[in-house]
Amino acid sequence: MTIQQKITSLRDELRKHNYSYYVLDKPTISDYEFDVKLKELQKLEEEHPEFYDATSPTLRVGGTVTKNFETVQHEHRMYSLDNSYSKDNLEDWEKRIQRILGDVPVEFTCELKYDGASISLTYEDGKLVRAVTRGDGFQGDDVTTNIKTITSVPLQLRGDYPPKFDIRGEIILTLEGFAQMNKERIEAGEDPYMNPRNTASGSLKLQDSALVAQRPLECLLYSITGKNLNIASQFEVLEKARAWGFKVPTVAKLCKTTDEVMQFVEYWDVHRHDLPYETDGVVIKVNSLRYQEELGYTAKAPRWAMAYKFKAEQVSTVLNEITYQVGRTGAITPVANLEPVLLAGTTVKRASLHNADQIEKLDIREGDTVFVEKGGEIIPKIIAVDFTKRPADSTPTKYIAHCPECETELIRKEGEAQHFCPNDTGCPTQITGRIQHFISRKAMDIEGLGSETVELLFKEGLIANYADLYTLTKEQVMPLERMAEKSAENLVNGVAASKMIPFERVLFALGIRYVGETVAKKLAKAYKNIDALKAASQEELVSVDEIGERIAESVVHFFDNPTNVEIVDRLKSYGLQFSLSQAQLENQSDKLKGQTFVVSGVFETIGRTELKKLIEDNGGKVASSISSKTSFLVAGDKMGPSKKTKAENLGVPIISEQEFLAKL
Ligand code: AMP
Ligand code: ZN
Repeated sequence: MTIQQKITSLRDELRKHNYSYYVLDKPTISDYEFDVKLKELQKLEEEHPEFYDATSPTLRVGGTVTKNFETVQHEHRMYSLDNSYSKDNLEDWEKRIQRILGDVPVEFTCELKYDGASISLTYEDGKLVRAVTRGDGFQGDDVTTNIKTITSVPLQLRGDYPPKFDIRGEIILTLEGFAQMNKERIEAGEDPYMNPRNTASGSLKLQDSALVAQRPLECLLYSITGKNLNIASQFEVLEKARAWGFKVPTVAKLCKTTDEVMQFVEYWDVHRHDLPYETDGVVIKVNSLRYQEELGYTAKAPRWAMAYKFKAEQVSTVLNEITYQVGRTGAITPVANLEPVLLAGTTVKRASLHNADQIEKLDIREGDTVFVEKGGEIIPKIIAVDFTKRPADSTPTKYIAHCPECETELIRKEGEAQHFCPNDTGCPTQITGRIQHFISRKAMDIEGLGSETVELLFKEGLIANYADLYTLTKEQVMPLERMAEKSAENLVNGVAASKMIPFERVLFALGIRYVGETVAKKLAKAYKNIDALKAASQEELVSVDEIGERIAESVVHFFDNPTNVEIVDRLKSYGLQFSLSQAQLENQSDKLKGQTFVVSGVFETIGRTELKKLIEDNGGKVASSISSKTSFLVAGDKMGPSKKTKAENLGVPIISEQEFLAKL
């Protein structure tokens, strides 16, 4: 087999596995095997840039940074939908349709209304060429590089597809994916996201597509526009799209009567809670595309479609007690403990109260009967108090002034909604929480040590901070509950092995507030070692790309605390990595600082990914589209003609691969 054949066959194979996994939800290979093959393909593509393909599965990992998303006109306007809330509304709509169409039988396709961010995808010759957000319906933002990282969006279609068309759908986060993202955020000391829908739509505009790639986004599709499509009905649209490789939910139903439509609506109003994603209603569409054309559009929506909105489910129950939780970073969350009640298919015992303002605004008190609703959020929320049922002896809620764990007086900063326990180094929950974060998989990844053991070690007085882990001996650990010689040995060995973990992960493990994985990487790259970082002032930190006031202040605050400095010094003395390795350093410079590059075409001596990495490692920025801010366009063979014209029009210098390499 030639190299080219090998690359093509790997691409085909990975595409098939992607399709089975992300579109059909039926994996045909283990994650590990998939990764091995993907890496193999990545390597071959790097070595052989002449076989570049804009639809290769390797593009799923992202890595392109876009500063300004280009505004693009929609070829076909993206309309809104009219809403209905009752059977009467729906029947009125059907009568209006029949008046226009005359006395003909009309069928309807019923689909779920997916609650996310709408997107329009353009395909030419079976390849994804553009993805544009809805924007104002007439024009949106070109977010193609971000969309390419979403695995259920096919980059290359299968079967018998038309040469050019637009397909529309909704970018969503599944409930499970959303919960997982929030778990990771909380572990990194960041505030959790409010709901899947806003998070999905925010993801589309992230500048770094590698971050988009990490989010478990999905794309569900529902409509096609274009010329000579040879499709007669909406139901056929769904079937065809599915056959070409798009993810189209199978719950859609073809209905012959309004009664059937109502049955579909009523069924999903109850069963929507079993779906893996959120839906806020049903969309009913006239099935025949010819009738759709005849019906046309109002100023804002198609006459041939109607959304039926579900009512958010609500119940009332008694609030027994308000309790307060302390997080790893000291953030206090008030929690409403409710008389258990059935809501949207699950028994609800607790609801989030967010913060002190929320309690005050709604005047929520213990003993109140409250209305609880499950909207977009996972945890139900209290939306109002039933004042008619307030007990006579009720008194206003006094928000706690002291930490429920350590009695320290709480603080609340200007402009922040949340109260904090400032006792970072003495509050037990914060201490164990920080140690648990330190040992977690994405941080020091200490094998043989789990969250419960951390609590036990802390309770027994064997550790008071994460530096103490490195002085633990087998003899100290063995007497603990459920420990044996072997497990004690594993623990001590696991701790010792973590000394090899690279600097950026150690930095993340320290648990500095707002310093998540990505920020830790940025800081490690900018400062190269902990001493330089420690010496940095707030102004200096803010001048680092993507480091804002909030992060800068938190870093300075961390190193202002002598206890933290002492712990870091101890960790250093135990041999943990507190600077970038020689190999990491050798590949870095500031030579391209302040310059932005766009890379286009195929290169002779170097792969595109490698070229982009070189730019970033040397302090430059990579952008996906040319703007007046672009410093250079690095042009290889077969460069896109539109990029060339644009660069020329804007006066952006075009340089060759050799000219670029000479800069380094
Ligand atoms: P609204 O934003 O409430 O006016 O609702 C209109 C939006 O619903 C459309 O722009 C689509 O993004 C979205 N939508 C979700 N699911 C569907 C579906 N199955 N068919 C059509 N539109 C849908
Ligand atoms: Zn405390």
